[in-house]
Amino acid sequence: KPHIVWLRRDLRLADQPAFHAAAQLGPVIPVYVLDDGAAGHHAYGGASRWWLHHSLADLSKALGSRHSRIILRRGDAVEELTKLAEETGAEAIHAIRHYEPWWRKAQGKLAEVLDLQLYDGNFLLPAGAVKTGSGTPYKIYTPFSKATLEHMPPRDTLPEPETLSHPDSWPHSDTLDDWDLLPTKPDWSGGIAEFWKVGEAAAHDRLTEWEGDVGDYDEGRNLPSQDGSSRLSPHLHFGEISPAQIWHALKHREGQGWNTYAKELIWRDYAQNVICQFPAYPVQSYREDFDRLEWRDPETDEKAADDLKAWQRGKTGYPIVDAGMRQLYQTGWMHNRVRMIAASFLIKHLLIDWRHGEKWFWDTLVDADYAANGTNWQWVAGTGVDSNMFVRIMAPLSQSEKFDAAAYIREYVPELSDLSVPYIHDPEEHGCRPRSYPRKIIAHKAGRERALAAYKHMKG
Ligand code: FAD
Repeated sequence: KPHIVWLRRDLRLADQPAFHAAAQLGPVIPVYVLDDGAAGHHAYGGASRWWLHHSLADLSKALGSRHSRIILRRGDAVEELTKLAEETGAEAIHAIRHYEPWWRKAQGKLAEVLDLQLYDGNFLLPAGAVKTGSGTPYKIYTPFSKATLEHMPPRDTLPEPETLSHPDSWPHSDTLDDWDLLPTKPDWSGGIAEFWKVGEAAAHDRLTEWEGDVGDYDEGRNLPSQDGSSRLSPHLHFGEISPAQIWHALKHREGQGWNTYAKELIWRDYAQNVICQFPAYPVQSYREDFDRLEWRDPETDEKAADDLKAWQRGKTGYPIVDAGMRQLYQTGWMHNRVRMIAASFLIKHLLIDWRHGEKWFWDTLVDADYAANGTNWQWVAGTGVDSNMFVRIMAPLSQSEKFDAAAYIREYVPELSDLSVPYIHDPEEHGCRPRSYPRKIIAHKAGRERALAAYKHMKG
């Protein structure tokens, strides 16, 4: 009897425990179900759909060369998998465990009706594996990170299955083109396609390419003008590579760079740990008093709507913010330091609720991740369980100088490409703003004071 491998954010063959187990038991039917309904507002956004298309195409090709294929179905995942199991007489369904609330629900429902075998494989440790002295999950990153490090290195990785035997006949499959995951009118994906190579082999190529830079990561990761971080985030999100594979490939590079990088991988585990405890974290401020903060609402306030649009389009008059937002729109990715600056600017200088930013990132990031996006937005906002404070307001212009963002700004804001340091960080202040570049939509001091006053008012 065949065994179904249910694929979601684990689009790889090596170190894929569900494939590994199923391959030893009988013929394997790999399946991906596009279930937009289950995730509701967090159905994949435009940039993620682009990535998903190419990642599925890549996996499909890899399976094809092993005389296998991937069955594509669209609809409610539980219904589709139940139907598929009936059609094929499958013995069991094998899948890597996922923690998004809609996947936890689907896993629970499926286990009631079918033999569902779940495996850990997408995180360093399964969520909830490390606990405080009193047996509860950690809420705060630093002790979580220390406890996780005590369990490292992670489990050994698994090789690709040696053979994948196929069923006597293949069930019906949609084609990828049926799903219209790629943009057409307009096709905004040119910049993204230029910037990225998608798929399992590309993820490993990127890891090899970046490996030599780990030693410089501690400093390099903060400098947007340098290629100082691994850019593995979309590959990790779609599971084209596992964090255990990355860990084992890099762990011999001892030193401060590797120590800091390891902690970033642990941030990724931490975010899962947060959504397991608080499933609505990406849609609800953890500190509920922030619901009383008088946010400027783009739905009812025209000026706030204009400001949100200027932020989305990279036209705020703050070069570092605009470079980041344009990098995001062009490439589907933004440098981490600039994500923090741009997010802080939206929440504090523009006093717009962090959830508007979360939504925009969800639609435009190729690494958009329910847990990581929600956790980081609440961290910057100061509304979360383990947070920066709301009153700690980042100054975008001094951040731009401190982290030497001139080359980055020149790359993404061509109107400013003729300006030198220090003018490029704040052309308006230096009286050299080209006419094609917008004025600041709010002065730094005014934005800061407005945010602090709103916070004081909320606190009563
Ligand atoms: P590297 O610096 O090379 O780090 C290696 C890996 O560690 C990353 O690929 C990522 O998987 C993980 N990681 C690093 N930093 C974090 C972090 N702060 N939180 C969780 N995981 C981390 N990351 C996402 O993967 N998806 C998101 O949707 C996302 N949204 C964000 C929103 C905001 C407002 C901010 C401030 C950060 C967000 N991040 C998100 C975290 C971080 O910016 C990205 O993971 C990182 O920039 C990806 O680039 P990289 O692969 O080169 O990272």
